Amino acid sequence: MLKENLQEVEEKIQSACQRAGRDRSEVTLVAVSKTKPAATLQEAYELGVRVFGENKVQEIREKYEVLPKDIEWHMIGHLQTNKVKYIVDKVRLIHSVDSLRLAEVIEKEAEKHNRGVDILLEVNVAEEESKFGLKTDEVLPLAERITEFSHVRLRGLMTIAPFVENPEKNRAIFANLHKLYVDIKEKNIDNGTVSILSMGMTNDYEVAIEEGATMVRIGTGIFGARDYSI
Ligand SMILES: *Cc1c(COP(=O)(O)O)cnc(C)c1O
Repeated sequence: MLKENLQEVEEKIQSACQRAGRDRSEVTLVAVSKTKPAATLQEAYELGVRVFGENKVQEIREKYEVLPKDIEWHMIGHLQTNKVKYIVDKVRLIHSVDSLRLAEVIEKEAEKHNRGVDILLEVNVAEEESKFGLKTDEVLPLAERITEFSHVRLRGLMTIAPFVENPEKNRAIFANLHKLYVDIKEKNIDNGTVSILSMGMTNDYEVAIEEGATMVRIGTGIFGARDYSI
């Protein structure tokens, strides 16, 4: 089942790249393994998956201990400042930075470990009340502040689009975030390191790729439905 799912996702990523005239190598697949047991991640690892996305600090800590060390862990969920210290030395990328305060805490913790930490700014493009993330017009000012930091490295932008039956409804959101991403790249406020646009989930990743995503975060499409009751 996992193998077939991964194959199907891979084929859809390839077709979306083709439709958009993009090379497959421009898009990184993040396998979103939240709520899934370590054994399931191990199975995916054996099928070649190396990039896993988790949304809880505790889950990253537990899985990090028992799974192979060449896994790239991505923190994709809301991050509380008091928990940064537990993962700053374990994650390859934090997708969900949405305030100066959080960026400052990551900077401080990264300095303690004497390592650089790659981050994305999370943008609530649709301005949904229920969601975390910066408003579009808050992104550039924060991006500029972050360039003053020496350990936190701004690598790009991320958004969680609304859940919609028809993914076409999210196309404008993805296009808007892509525009903002290009703006930031062109401003060169980042010394040329902004190269990640994380958008698209199971329901809408093909549209996201057509609109320029360089990273898609897929959970259900790979691992099946999540069971939150256990
Ligand atoms: C859960 C989650 C995903 C994956 O969602 P699916 O619809 O299962 O693919 C992607 N991004 C974030 C931030 C998530 O929390």
